[in-house]
Amino acid sequence: MIKCPKCNKQISARPGTVCPRCKRKITQNDIGYMFCPEPECKAILPKSAVYCPKCGAKIRNESVNEKINKIVKKIEKILNSL
Ligand SMILES: [Zn+2]
Ligand SMILES: [Zn+2]
Repeated sequence: MIKCPKCNKQISARPGTVCPRCKRKITQNDIGYMFCPEPECKAILPKSAVYCPKCGAKIRNESVNEKINKIVKKIEKILNSL
């Protein structure tokens, strides 16, 4: 259970839950943790997790810099192939 960030009502700590009092939709950010992306694992992981300690799945938690680097590399590839 978590507290609704808007009205402080105790509600189920699952992403996608809608607060019955104020109708606010609960997101993973509100909860402070996330679930393993592996459908057969679904372990609860801290938001800062890089990989799942249960099944070893890599969590996509790329920083902005990593994303930019990937885009730059893609553009370089395209330019080189011209
Ligand atoms: Zn609420
Ligand atoms: Zn897992």
